[in-house]
Amino acid sequence: MDTDVIIVGAGLSGLVAAREIHRAGLRAVVIDQEGPQDLGGQAWWSFGGLFLVDSPEQRRLGVRDSFDLAWQDWRGSAAWDRLDGDHPEDEWAERWGRAYVEFAAGEKREWIREAGIELTPVVGWAERGDLTASGHGNSVPRFHVPWGTGTGVIGPFTSAAQAAEAEGRTRLLHRHRCDGILVEDGKAVGVRGSVLAPDSNARGAVSSREVVGDFELRAGAVIVASGGIGGDHELVRKFWPERLGTPPRAMVTGVPAYVDGRMIGIAQQAGARLVNRDRMWHYTEGVRNWNPVWPGHAIRILPGRRRSGSTHWGGACRLPAFRATTRSRPCACCAPGRTSPSTTIRGSS
Ligand SMILES: Cc1cc2nc3c(=O)[nH]c(=O)nc-3n(C[C@H](O)[C@H](O)[C@H](O)COP(=O)(O)OP(=O)(O)OC[C@H]3O[C@@H](n4cnc5c(N)ncnc54)[C@H](O)[C@@H]3O)c2cc1C
Repeated sequence: MDTDVIIVGAGLSGLVAAREIHRAGLRAVVIDQEGPQDLGGQAWWSFGGLFLVDSPEQRRLGVRDSFDLAWQDWRGSAAWDRLDGDHPEDEWAERWGRAYVEFAAGEKREWIREAGIELTPVVGWAERGDLTASGHGNSVPRFHVPWGTGTGVIGPFTSAAQAAEAEGRTRLLHRHRCDGILVEDGKAVGVRGSVLAPDSNARGAVSSREVVGDFELRAGAVIVASGGIGGDHELVRKFWPERLGTPPRAMVTGVPAYVDGRMIGIAQQAGARLVNRDRMWHYTEGVRNWNPVWPGHAIRILPGRRRSGSTHWGGACRLPAFRATTRSRPCACCAPGRTSPSTTIRGSS
């Protein structure tokens, strides 16, 4: 056995797993198809907003939140409707969702602080949905902004991985692309793959796929932390939800090309059960970057904090001064015919 655990992917998920494995006194090998300049994956590019429930930051802003409200909001957004039968597709999503909301309302704040993430006092209101506690979206602000935004979230984990590597207990293998999972007696016992040629691409830019060697590694367990599918429009089209009709012919891309979804098919070939492939999350990055880093690079423009504003039909928007990331349509309070919602928050200066 080459190590205790192999982790495919050195994004936030893979590096968090590596840190936990290190803290448990075990050895890990983390492989990633990209070079060291891309360590941390998408999280480096992200805004880094963190979901916490009933935090001191919320209370300071007058936001009244609770596990029950957050769990209700979560279920409203998830709209799980595949819970019937012996092994329903939504079974683990529901269990995981509940455990995550409990974590966010409990130990998460201390966990991120201990990991090295510091929070600003700003709590934004992302994914507002329809602004009601019974509909979809967060009915109160929960988007905690860390110092350094995405780099402030990923930084502690890249540092921890590098420190563990210096100690010799964690190995980071860059330009190692997993092409298959080794399975014996129904158990994942390792990975095989290709060593890709070194590349000095800028972070986030497309790197070469020239193969210069191959590798095989064995371990007690394999964790797949390879991210989503947003970099491959063909995959997005293939699993496009039927209820949304025909997928658009032209799309923009909110993630680097290495978010290629290839590993999901590889996991399936090894026997993983894939569920809900038609349910995907894509940020509505609707504006093309004038200076793209990755192919089709699109960005989103967040509105700055403001105490008042105007609705899309010209009226006064009476929302309090919380940051919001609106999605592809106006927030419900700005929809024609709607009055300002009654909320449990008050504005901050
Ligand atoms: C612009 C932007 C803003 C965002 N803002 C927020 C936010 O505010 N709050 C929030 O919670 N989330 C946000 N997100 C989402 C969040 O950043 C991502 O969901 C998260 O970082 C994904 O981490 P990951 O480790 O699962 O995947 P990734 O970061 O995609 O990492 C996966 C890694 O696996 C590697 N890999 C893939 N396949 C293979 C293979 N076959 N072999 C070897 N390596 C492989 C890839 O190279 C990559 O390095 C944002 C994302 C973006 C792009």
